[in-house]
Amino acid sequence: MLCGICNTNISKYRCPKCSVPYCSLSCFKGEKHIQLDNESGKRQPTTTSTSEESAVSKENDIVEQSIDGNVARFEDVLRDEQIQSMLKIKSLQFHLSTILRILNDPQLTNESTMEGRREIANKKLCNLRIGGIEENELIEDFVSRVLTLLA
Ligand SMILES: [Zn+2]
Ligand SMILES: [Zn+2]
Repeated sequence: MLCGICNTNISKYRCPKCSVPYCSLSCFKGEKHIQLDNESGKRQPTTTSTSEESAVSKENDIVEQSIDGNVARFEDVLRDEQIQSMLKIKSLQFHLSTILRILNDPQLTNESTMEGRREIANKKLCNLRIGGIEENELIEDFVSRVLTLLA
């Protein structure tokens, strides 16, 4: 096939953008080809946006799948007898509700982003675990039980 740009040499490549066959880098970088690319860019805006949309929806599918998976796993945790009896203990309820409040109430921490609040809640939880400044055996037992069930 002849090069679609110089129409002289045999083409060895094809442009991924405008799919014109071309022979060499100098043709590929030439003025004439740049114009072809620009025109093809204008002609195919729908194709581009459709492929972008499908990529986005694929990503959403993955996120939804992993959320579904997590929900199922947390249901397993909640069905666990050890977890159920621990959740009846007042002091554990208190600490867990504190962590929930950190996560859900921006006024408590002055953190407007979920990410920031999650970090604070994480730190709080770490403090409550073995070796933390608020070390709490019950929390440690609870957290390690949850982690065992989720592993
Ligand atoms: Zn050429
Ligand atoms: Zn091209």
